Amino acid sequence: MKIIDGKKIAWDLRNGVKDKIKKEGLRLKLCVIRVGEDPASKIYIGMKRKACEEVGIDFLEVFLDEKEVVDNYVEKKICLVSKKIEELNLDKSVTGILVQLPIPRVLAKEKIFELIDPRKDVDCLTPINIGRMVLGYGRVSPCTAKGCIELIKSTGISIEGKNAVVVGRSEIVGKPAALLLLQENATVSICHSKTRNLAEYTKKADILVAAAGVPKLIKEDMVKKDATVIDVGINRLQDKLAGDVDFVKVKNKAAFVTPVPGGVGPMTVAELINNVYLLGKNY
Ligand code: NAD
Repeated sequence: MKIIDGKKIAWDLRNGVKDKIKKEGLRLKLCVIRVGEDPASKIYIGMKRKACEEVGIDFLEVFLDEKEVVDNYVEKKICLVSKKIEELNLDKSVTGILVQLPIPRVLAKEKIFELIDPRKDVDCLTPINIGRMVLGYGRVSPCTAKGCIELIKSTGISIEGKNAVVVGRSEIVGKPAALLLLQENATVSICHSKTRNLAEYTKKADILVAAAGVPKLIKEDMVKKDATVIDVGINRLQDKLAGDVDFVKVKNKAAFVTPVPGGVGPMTVAELINNVYLLGKNY
């Protein structure tokens, strides 16, 4: 068993992007829109800011008051988030736009994402960028899903022809991770909350990506010997973080496994930085 060091792989990716930005003399700017005071959002934005500053990307956080956003929308049918996106789309100095989730429920998030200029859509959430990714010629992919693929590749195993199982089918993680594995020529199964007998699938997986948001869902007896296991889950248990994989037991059976924290999490931030670079250099 080998633990995949997500921190180190993410660090290398970030350093590579830093060198390219410097060498190519790029001026990039990421703008993050935050609505309200969600504590987790503040932490995630802080991590993104730090990563941007380290690699030489300008960073701007736009804060919108939650009550003001909801009142304007309900009473006047004015969406302040949409207005802000339209403003940032036109601002030539802004090369990347990200809307930090959650946003108030009254706003349909899909409608909001659609407004982002695809050339600035660093989270790969617009239908155009998702469509391009599905068709296999996208410039960017959703950050967490792309991070999973890079972690698998870091092990040196070949993805081609392998049985890959993704547990979870969310728009931002499960679905894109499955599509990227398919593009790498894996034979892919997608499992979800309605899957009957999950273990029947996971036991056949040479590559297993767990993205269900259920702590320790994947037990040792559900994993094939010498599999590569990527744990996307971030679940808060009392004051500790737990993944979707029973790490302590599974690590004895798998050939490679990612820890939580220190696996997929750092890669998500690094892939975001890479997306800011990939879109910004062509803007
Ligand atoms: P989500 O709630 O949107 O989707 C969860 C998916 O898992 C759904 O498709 C559901 O059908 C499936 N599922 C739920 N319970 C299941 C079960 N018992 N068996 C099989 N499938 C089941 O969640 P998400 O946004 O995709 O996130 C998943 C997990 O990954 C969460 O823990 C989240 O915190 C974490 N996450 C981590 C990162 C990171 O950077 N490491 C990024 C995004 C999400």
